[in-house]
Amino acid sequence: MASRRDSPVCAVRRRWGRVSERGSLPVMEVLLAQPRGYCAGVDRAIDVVDLAIDLYGAPVYVRHEIVHNRFVVESLRERGAIFVEEISEIPEGATVVFSAHGVSPAVRDDARARSLRTIDATCPLVTKVHLEALRFAKQDRWILLVGHAGHAEVEGTMGEAPDRMILVQSVEEAERVTVPDPERVGYLTQTTLSVDETMEILAVLRRRFPKIKGPPREDICYATQNRQNAVKEMAGACDLVLVVGSPSSSNSNRLAEVARSFGVEAYRIESATELDPAWIGGKRRVGVTSGASTPERLVQELLVRLQELGAASVRPVEVTKEDLVFHMPSSLARDLLESGRQEELLSRYGRMVRPSLT
Ligand code: SF4
Repeated sequence: MASRRDSPVCAVRRRWGRVSERGSLPVMEVLLAQPRGYCAGVDRAIDVVDLAIDLYGAPVYVRHEIVHNRFVVESLRERGAIFVEEISEIPEGATVVFSAHGVSPAVRDDARARSLRTIDATCPLVTKVHLEALRFAKQDRWILLVGHAGHAEVEGTMGEAPDRMILVQSVEEAERVTVPDPERVGYLTQTTLSVDETMEILAVLRRRFPKIKGPPREDICYATQNRQNAVKEMAGACDLVLVVGSPSSSNSNRLAEVARSFGVEAYRIESATELDPAWIGGKRRVGVTSGASTPERLVQELLVRLQELGAASVRPVEVTKEDLVFHMPSSLARDLLESGRQEELLSRYGRMVRPSLT
């Protein structure tokens, strides 16, 4: 067993210094996690709705919140997006964007039946999980999906093989779950889970189903892992961690849980207005991060508020750099080419559009 000195918390404290050692300092310091905020899938999904409105005109319908952030949804609504939960709410022939969380085949069928123009903003990393589900189903495997009930991504993935997929939400459920043929089992995971908690669940499943197959590469996405690693890097050296993100944002909630697992007080807040000044009282070092669907503007507003409450400096804690960019959905790229407005729109969205057009 690792000694206390070797624990991750101790390693972090050696790098950043104990909070208590800073007790003589008169001011509060902020550690700012990097990476934080938008991932490549969220960036693309928001640009897709924006570009669709530019290209086809308002309204453009979006099934489910395009990403789980109230401020993003409100700003797109102001531009002409209409958010719906069911395809039946959309007039025939209208344009619909599927959100970054993905949809089930049944939703695609409904859209076809209403002759909708569909633009698929599903994150390619979610699409990868859908394809793995289909592959396991073709192999006649029972699929154990580790994830949270009711999350849009889970609903979409389960729709790929509804008759042979079973949701596992916890270690306890992993201990209890049964399948008709324990020799033919596969597992998949939601992309935005806690890495550590998921490893515990998978360890139980591997013990109970020794022949279980997993995906070639883990499904918890790079952005989720990087943001959790940045919190792990700083949490042990903080006496408070603030995560900016909406209540519906799975990865934001996981970031707060990761911080708490270090024994640190942590809150997920939607914006600076939710910051309770009482949390700051007596704190010497506050960690700040944000979920993958949180606009950076909200983080900057929180930093301003923390400065008003006594923060004297902001120090970045960078664990890695991210430079991944996903291509534009092909239907949108094609229509852009045919629109005659490609120069104007490429200059606005070129970072994402150009790779699909070459
Ligand atoms: S969190 Fe990961 S899976 Fe989800 S949209 Fe971002 S990159 Fe894609």
